[in-house]
Amino acid sequence: MQNFKAERYVFEQNHTKEQLLNMTHVFHRNPCATLPVATHGEGVYLYDNIGKKYLDACGGAAVSCLGHNHPAPTKAIQAQAAELAYVHSGFFTTNAAEELADKLASLAPGDINHAILVSGGSEAVETALKLARQYYVERGELSRKHFISRRQSFHGNTLGALSVGNNEPRKEPYRPLLMGSNAIAPCYPYREQREEESEREYGFRIAAELEQKIVELGPDSVIGFVAETVGGATSGVQPPVDGYLQHIRKICDDYDILLILDEVMCGCGRTGTFLSCTQDEVVPDIVTLAKGLGAGYQPMAATLCSDSIYSVISEGSGALMHGFTYMGHTIACATALAVLNTIVEDGLLENVLKQGDYLISQLQEHLGSHPNVGDIRGRGLLVGIEFVADRASKKALNPNYSFHAVLKSVCQKNGLLCYPAGGTIDGLHGDHVLLAPPYIADETIINQIVELLTDSINESLVQIEI
Ligand code: PMP
Repeated sequence: MQNFKAERYVFEQNHTKEQLLNMTHVFHRNPCATLPVATHGEGVYLYDNIGKKYLDACGGAAVSCLGHNHPAPTKAIQAQAAELAYVHSGFFTTNAAEELADKLASLAPGDINHAILVSGGSEAVETALKLARQYYVERGELSRKHFISRRQSFHGNTLGALSVGNNEPRKEPYRPLLMGSNAIAPCYPYREQREEESEREYGFRIAAELEQKIVELGPDSVIGFVAETVGGATSGVQPPVDGYLQHIRKICDDYDILLILDEVMCGCGRTGTFLSCTQDEVVPDIVTLAKGLGAGYQPMAATLCSDSIYSVISEGSGALMHGFTYMGHTIACATALAVLNTIVEDGLLENVLKQGDYLISQLQEHLGSHPNVGDIRGRGLLVGIEFVADRASKKALNPNYSFHAVLKSVCQKNGLLCYPAGGTIDGLHGDHVLLAPPYIADETIINQIVELLTDSINESLVQIEI
């Protein structure tokens, strides 16, 4: 917020009110920022209208997993548009929707065999919440009304998704409109693992908070536990520690509540397996996907669920009391199918694991002992760096300087797109940068990212007071 105000001040000094109103009719995220005009993209690069080239190391918000102008989704869009663009999902199914759902069911673990096809991450999470509630309504358990989630989580900006998430600054203006949230600890070993604890013991301790919360709320009133398998943009990338998710799964089973994993950011191969939770040997009841599913070529998302949830509804009232006009959009489905086929057929999951390890090793080499880098963490090609004022005490940078905002603009000036954010620790304190390069990246690209980022971090640090 502070940073927006500073930008507004400079902006208003330089423009009349009239100029400000007529400058653009797009209601931009930040009306005071002057944005470059993107014109085209090719592979890992984006270009603007003055010919500047940007190395895209974050795919927007971890979206463009195949890079830009990839032939497979581009051709799929053209072919599908030439045949059929859209039908309402209440009148027809399509080959594109059926084939996409078959593919998703074949890639998902266990009995996750059913896909509700929607258009964005928030829609997918909103759908998951309503699906979960209806599941218990069909079972006659009407008292179920609470979701439990984690501090420093993000699940989307629609009111339901915003309610279960715990990105405090995003919630603040809307709080009177939101459902109350029941938050337990995030998986944040860098700051919250005790010295005498092993990683596994830490994971068990924080997972036990779920059980305490269920008991406190009353087990008959809880619908489910909602969590990002790998914490994303709010927490600065938080992979689960060994054993944590398995323990969470067991607690959900013991109390008969649903495990809803939000893999909007970390799913679809971003961490090296189709679902990230496969690496934790956990199968959720419901899982959400978006971002990498459409890879930026189409707005596309999905809420996947287990056979048992599907049959309770299909053999109960027979219909999900929920839907959107654009669900199962034909071109979007055909595009997502092409994206998934490309990920599998081009061996990109293996490349994500390989390049992810390489990225972490290079970051460690260049920034591992930097005085203002506290932690480098990640899974596959979802990587976070947390910045500090002091490595020994882990003291955060002064939030008044919005280091993350400075870093974002310095990186962009230097031709590197990455995803820094502030409030890493508690919504106010802490700064991090998130990297999410495309799955097609090779070692040369990773080297360029690390070099540009290292230089940009040093250039940004001299602009703030530590
Ligand atoms: N869940 C997670 C984990 C996310 O990272 C995001 C987007 N950052 C969302 C949900 C919301 O997705 P969208 O912005 O597509 O609505």
